[in-house]
Amino acid sequence: MTMPAVVLTADGRVALQDRPRPTLRPDQVLVEVDMCGICGSDLHASQLPQVYRGDCILGHESTGRVAAVGDEVADWAVGLKVAVNPNGNVDGTCVYCRSGRPNFCPQATLETALGLQADGALAPLMAAFPGHLRRIPDELGTLEAAWVEPTATALRAVELAGELAGRTVLVTGGGPIGQLACRLAHLRSPAQIFLMEPAAQRAQFATDSHAVSIAAEDDARGLVVDVVLECSGSAAATSTALKLLAPGGILVVVGAGPDPALDSATILLKEITVRGSYIYTDEFDRAIHLLATQQVTVADLTTVITPLSDALTAFDALRAGQIMKALIAPGTLP
Ligand SMILES: [Zn+2]
Repeated sequence: MTMPAVVLTADGRVALQDRPRPTLRPDQVLVEVDMCGICGSDLHASQLPQVYRGDCILGHESTGRVAAVGDEVADWAVGLKVAVNPNGNVDGTCVYCRSGRPNFCPQATLETALGLQADGALAPLMAAFPGHLRRIPDELGTLEAAWVEPTATALRAVELAGELAGRTVLVTGGGPIGQLACRLAHLRSPAQIFLMEPAAQRAQFATDSHAVSIAAEDDARGLVVDVVLECSGSAAATSTALKLLAPGGILVVVGAGPDPALDSATILLKEITVRGSYIYTDEFDRAIHLLATQQVTVADLTTVITPLSDALTAFDALRAGQIMKALIAPGTLP
């Protein structure tokens, strides 16, 4: 029995293929996928061999319902609605798990991450370990549940910036993570949020994300900010961020690109703190709550909900920067 799936092929292409349906292992659960977002990193998966294995089904921003439960699995039942934490299969015993940093657990993030090293959710059916699954409340909509994972990513970046009340925040990169960073920062009463995003289709969301749009470095002349949340991975944005930061400022890096553009002299002369933000820990569960209580909203950021058969068109539109976010609804199997 096969099913359609969006696959990162062994030679680095993204393709729609027929793949074997997952079989139920005694220590796993099968999830019927309701919706799965396409992440910016999925677009460049072949350039990220550190985390993407290849010959693997993509999709790590998903929600669905439990379809089958292995004999050894406790506490789960068919029909329960879940948000899927793709990095949730922690071993609980490694040095990182024991020190409260499961975002570095090798088993969870380098061996069994769904949509990265294990088959993910851009398919109607997915096998998951119990650690991957989070119950979701009835009031969390399916669309919102598909946004839990990117919301958790942005939440960690915002929290690593420390106190934001009364401070001036610049977000560089106005894709989904940048927009979420603006919206989550807004909840912490900053003096002002600026969003730097060159593409008009994405910059236009600034107002709804409680930010003032600045188009480029020229617009920002004279601006001084306390915190930058770098969500673009662009060397130009990172360079601008360092220029605009006040002495003692904080740069949180949640986007990554090939050229770091981190000028050490500027970091030294202004005593800039540079912090990486990688995956999430308990932010995943708090993101569920923030979305369920509508403290952060995402419906307007969802450009399109597409069946699996049109997923590659959505990949192309995202690569071209034409749309903000595509969610894939894989549909049910016969
Ligand atoms: Zn661990």
